[in-house]
Amino acid sequence: MDENSKGLLIVISGPSGVGKGTVNRKLLKDNPHMVFSVSVTTRSKRENEVDGKEYFFRSEEEFSQMIKDGEFLEYMRVFGMFSYGTPRAFVNEQLNAGNDVILEIDVQGGLRVKEVCEDAVLIFLAPPSMEELKARLVERGTEDEHSIERRTEVAKDEMRCISYYDYVVVNSSIGQAVKGIEAIIHAEKSRVKRSSDLITLLLEGCDNIC
Ligand code: 5GP
Repeated sequence: MDENSKGLLIVISGPSGVGKGTVNRKLLKDNPHMVFSVSVTTRSKRENEVDGKEYFFRSEEEFSQMIKDGEFLEYMRVFGMFSYGTPRAFVNEQLNAGNDVILEIDVQGGLRVKEVCEDAVLIFLAPPSMEELKARLVERGTEDEHSIERRTEVAKDEMRCISYYDYVVVNSSIGQAVKGIEAIIHAEKSRVKRSSDLITLLLEGCDNIC
């Protein structure tokens, strides 16, 4: 397969409550060649979540078997309680089909993806402030008070990893955040290293090459 026509692997991370889901839904709606990688998790299903849509909900035993079978591109235990993993086969199929793949995963997972796929683009979605982040978690109403405190603490740790990411986008408004991510993808796709076919074509017949 021609490397230039492969899709882009895009990791979008950010603290719980920052709005990754909403931003990604709009991104996917507006970009037909973009697909979402549905992760596998052992955490229980929240109200309104559908198996196979937000996540594949699996038992600890099933998750362990998937690890043994080498089915994950990366996997991680998050919050010390649950496991989450990115199915490798789907990602590879989609990239080879020329689709851009969005991974909505935590920062440790993002860094692991960069290790195994250096072309991956890591984008950190940040809140306008930590106060705003906490307010959004409370508003979401899916977590109890203890869980909100725990997620706020984890958020601080995650924010410390921003420097390892390629880009940071502040989610002040959904429209603005989506535009920011689209601009990054456009720039990444315009990189000279991703355009070698075009360049070869343009240079055909040119005698002097730098
Ligand atoms: P939640 O339980 O709120 O849906 O997700 C908790 C955290 O797990 C979020 O930061 C989310 O991005 C992350 N996460 C979801 N799927 C994966 C995955 O496949 N791998 C990793 N490393 N993290 C994931």
